Amino acid sequence: LENKMQGFEERIKKPYPNVKYLNYRTKKRILVTGGAGFVGSHLVDKLMKAGHDITVVDNFFTGVKANVEQWIGHANFELIHQDIVNPLFVEVDEIYHLASPASPPHYMFNPVKTIKTNTIGTINMLGLAKRVGAKVLIASTSEVYGDPEVHPQPETYWGHVNPIGPRACYDEGKRVSETLSYAYAKHEKVSVRVARIFNTHGPRMHMNDGRVVSNFIVQALRNEPITVYGRGNQTRSFQYVSDLVDGLIALMDSNYTQPVNLGNPTEHTINEFAAIIKGLVGGKSTVITSSAVEDDPQRRKPDITRAMTYLNWKPKVGLKEGLKMTINYFKQELRKSQKTA
Ligand code: NAD
Ligand code: UDP
Ligand code: UDP
Repeated sequence: LENKMQGFEERIKKPYPNVKYLNYRTKKRILVTGGAGFVGSHLVDKLMKAGHDITVVDNFFTGVKANVEQWIGHANFELIHQDIVNPLFVEVDEIYHLASPASPPHYMFNPVKTIKTNTIGTINMLGLAKRVGAKVLIASTSEVYGDPEVHPQPETYWGHVNPIGPRACYDEGKRVSETLSYAYAKHEKVSVRVARIFNTHGPRMHMNDGRVVSNFIVQALRNEPITVYGRGNQTRSFQYVSDLVDGLIALMDSNYTQPVNLGNPTEHTINEFAAIIKGLVGGKSTVITSSAVEDDPQRRKPDITRAMTYLNWKPKVGLKEGLKMTINYFKQELRKSQKTA
């Protein structure tokens, strides 16, 4: 216990990261739902450092307090433990609506809950925005394109989603979330932004979330076999989290109201990806194949013309450069878990 208390005291003595001073004219009150999660907490860091007033709402299903602990107690920061499926009454200027599990094992854990979060939760955020006149940014996903027949995917593509498959709770949930956004925009004059986020990685990803980046890196670091699902010819395109955060803020600040893809167009097969990770980590892992995943999208790569044209945004961090930072994070996490084991 003494050791634990010492760790706790050291942590709370840490100074806050530098925060810019903003006067009342420029300071915004911003709500981040899902702000204790992977992407949300990086967004919170950037908005806090810029000097805004930030409220995080999270039910800690997949997020953890530790992701935002650096801000707890800061005058500009508030953390509310609440489920977004329940109504929420706060006064804000902007809402980044990120609350939703994102990794397939997490969103399949309770499909009905995933649908409720993405439908009722989104209605609540749009209702809140309508009442207070706030702008809302919805975190949508490349999964709205399903297993795409158009490659790369532009925002004009309507998608190819199996409505009753295992991924449907998430894919269709996000599609309804988009539909709701444009219904509120049209009928209630709510100002909406829709980001279609492609696969993202970086520090604070969950070590056991079952996604390919975390699985492969942890397997390589432990010298365990790297598990490729199916033949490994399916492709993905990975962006680093800081690029995504820049894109989300650029979208919120822009006047562009149609959906915008945010992702890195560098595309690799999962087999190539296994080799890249193995090359960066080193070690003795072999690559093994196991059964294919049902409804697994076979190709995915964003067409980012819209983001480049309307937001002047494009990813800055290269694949290997980003992966090195993510690998370092997982190394530290593994060391921590070995210490506490
Ligand atoms: P994450 O699981 O780390 O974060 C999601 C956060 O939402 C967690 O803190 C979780 O506790 C919270 N949450 C979930 N359900 C909630 C509820 N009912 N009420 C309140 N809080 C709830 O996932 P992430 O990777 O940070 O994803 C953030 C958003 O971005 C999600 O909406 C996700 O769909 C979207 N997205 C992410 C990716 C990616 O590659 N990471 C890709 C596409 C879209
Ligand atoms: N809502 C909320 N916070 C608010 C305003 C509304 O959570 O500040 C919820 C409200 O409970 C409702 C949903 O948002 O369930 C949709 O609100 P809207 O005003 O569009 O619909 P109505 O209340 O008319 O059904
Ligand atoms: N994948 C894999 N091995 C793993 C985890 C995932 O081969 O250990 C594959 C998965 O089948 C998919 C791709 O990697 O084709 C990306 O999976 P992930 O769950 O990370 O995200 P998705 O893009 O499918 O939501």
